[in-house]
Amino acid sequence: GIFLDTLQPAFQWRDLKKGADGLVPVIVQDYRNKEVLMLAYMNEEAFEWTLASGKMTYFSRSRQCLWIKGETSGHFQYVKELRIDCDEDTLLAEVEQVGGACHTGNRSCFYRELAKKEYKNRNPLGVFEDVYQVILDRKAHPKEGSYTNYLFDKGIDKILKKMGEECTEIVIAAKNPDPEEIKYEMADFLYHMMVLMAQKDMTWEEITDELANR
Ligand code: AMP
Ligand code: ZN
Ligand code: ZN
Ligand code: ZN
Repeated sequence: GIFLDTLQPAFQWRDLKKGADGLVPVIVQDYRNKEVLMLAYMNEEAFEWTLASGKMTYFSRSRQCLWIKGETSGHFQYVKELRIDCDEDTLLAEVEQVGGACHTGNRSCFYRELAKKEYKNRNPLGVFEDVYQVILDRKAHPKEGSYTNYLFDKGIDKILKKMGEECTEIVIAAKNPDPEEIKYEMADFLYHMMVLMAQKDMTWEEITDELANR
């Protein structure tokens, strides 16, 4: 049976604009955090098989054959959504990626920087994720003089005591006319909360899922 419903029957394989090689490029994205995982190409068979099976299936340009992503590695990509771009020459697949998309073992094929301009991380959750990753890294690889490791070494009661203190400091700062103060205290609180999260093996995803589901 057909696994996926084609939402817009207007878009069949014949409606897509193919490249000179008869293939259509597919941008593949993690359906949850929108990370770009890889780029690959489909021919008609790959397109139809993807719709029929719900697993991303491509045409391998190097091997010149149908390629069910994950068939040897087990790193399958379960389709959550397929989108088509404005001029119908590119597909976007939102997938649930098992393991890494890249054959190097990396989550994304785009793990190497080629050029970069310094920028501010404008994604608030991205900042939370980055700080949380540093905290997890400290937990796994303790660093000399690290305050985070000091907290882990002292243990849960010390972390909870700090949470209580920082929480009280937010309350006090909220009464303070200086608007800068509350910013520092909230940042302190969130940092200590992330230390507690790491101690409890709780991820941001679990917390944001819970909020989103309310
Ligand atoms: P897999 O489909 O994950 O079982 O991998 C089978 C083969 O496909 C690998 O040995 C690679 O040659 C190739 N391959 C897998 N993933 C990628 C990728 N993201 N980009 C390019 N080639 C890949
Ligand atoms: Zn466009
Ligand atoms: Zn296009
Ligand atoms: Zn790769």
